[in-house]
Amino acid sequence: MKSHNQTRRVLVHGAAGRMGQCVREALKRRDDLRIGALVETPDHPQIGSNLEEGAVLTSDVDRATNECDVAVSFALPEGSLHLLRACAHRGIASIVGTTGFQTGQHAEIESLAENIPIVLAANFSISVNIMLHLVRTAAGLLGEDYDAEILELHHREKIDAPSGTALSLGKAVAEGRKQIFEDHSVMTREGAVGTRLPNSIGLQALRGGDVAGEHNVMFLGVGERLEIVHRASTREHFARGALHAASWIRGREPGLYNMEQVLGLTSQ
Ligand code: NAD
Repeated sequence: MKSHNQTRRVLVHGAAGRMGQCVREALKRRDDLRIGALVETPDHPQIGSNLEEGAVLTSDVDRATNECDVAVSFALPEGSLHLLRACAHRGIASIVGTTGFQTGQHAEIESLAENIPIVLAANFSISVNIMLHLVRTAAGLLGEDYDAEILELHHREKIDAPSGTALSLGKAVAEGRKQIFEDHSVMTREGAVGTRLPNSIGLQALRGGDVAGEHNVMFLGVGERLEIVHRASTREHFARGALHAASWIRGREPGLYNMEQVLGLTSQ
């Protein structure tokens, strides 16, 4: 059943996780959005408890989608896909921040987006999306004389590597150079690997502490280096960006959208 007033009910998926908590907090500062349902994996110890006033943590995705207007998911790839299947069935627009989808899972998201609008972004930060723009432009202007290397640093609990944002930055370099990212990315170097592969795009992941996220894209020339760096000190801006997308998606046609489109940085 759709909400009758202007306030849209948000299904927060992965609600007890680090990002889920940020989304719940950010929702308290919105007039146009409110908590509709809080969903976690069935074996989560807080299932059945009142995580927020009037909102019990559930693992019942079908029921939760029935009570909401838009879903926001920061969870694990298989869990987010399970949610998206239910959302596609009920016509619920979805915002997905989960990273680490495999190629086949990404293809399924594209196919589900034929039924509902989905915003999928490895990074909902506004400045990171501007960084993607800058990186694409710099890569195109500098060309292949400048070696592209991407370094990312995240907290010790992060389970996928390189980060989804680092992969997006790598793809932005490839787009700027008119290359195919998968043909040029180099993610491991160990042993006698030889000299740097021409035109390659290197990505390296560092893990430790509680670092919310750092990304450094280097363009290394002879005698000079251009670096474009983003450092996140909290996770709040990711949640704010995701809720901006949850507002934006209202009334959109089915399709797979990215954050650059949400922010009007690229054509729809
Ligand atoms: P986290 O481990 O703190 O939280 C994930 C939550 O999802 C956990 O509470 C877990 O129990 C829950 N979960 C797992 N499977 C589930 C399922 N099937 N159904 C419902 N809930 C389920 O992790 P986190 O730091 O909050 O990050 C979550 C994801 O979001 C990761 O993939 C991370 O890389 C990504 N992330 C994206 C952005 C962005 O801007 N797009 C920003 C930060 C993190």
